[in-house]
Amino acid sequence: MKYIPDQIFIEPEVETSFYTQKVLSKFQDVQRRVLPQGDGLKLLEETTRNLFKGKKTLFLKAFHAEPAKICPGYSDQVLCCNYYVINLIENCPLECSYCILQAYLNKTNLTFHVNVEEIMRKTAELVKSQPNRPFRIGTGEHSDS
Ligand code: SF4
Repeated sequence: MKYIPDQIFIEPEVETSFYTQKVLSKFQDVQRRVLPQGDGLKLLEETTRNLFKGKKTLFLKAFHAEPAKICPGYSDQVLCCNYYVINLIENCPLECSYCILQAYLNKTNLTFHVNVEEIMRKTAELVKSQPNRPFRIGTGEHSDS
């Protein structure tokens, strides 16, 4: 399946970033809009309240928090295998009826965290900080790996 969005929303801070430009060059005929500073998320939520419209809306933004999160299944009752997840993408253009994503995420649009270099750098720093432990890092919590 080839995914082609109907519209692309862009956070002002990533407007000129490498991956934003790469995505925009792939979808040259797709309507795009840089969201107003501060009001962007609200506008995006209103625009994508409809599931089908949301799936066809691609949001390009930065993710500055710590990108590698420890596995959501972790608890003190289990032996941790050092599994982490990073989420470059949130949501999926498909609608498999059995998929937890349809109910798990509270927004309908697809999001791509385009500050990939920063996310990779922070993840590498985390791995380097524990040189004697093997890491497993997955990418499929908020999207399909
Ligand atoms: S994440 Fe995977 S299972 Fe879920 S809707 Fe997308 S393709 Fe289907």
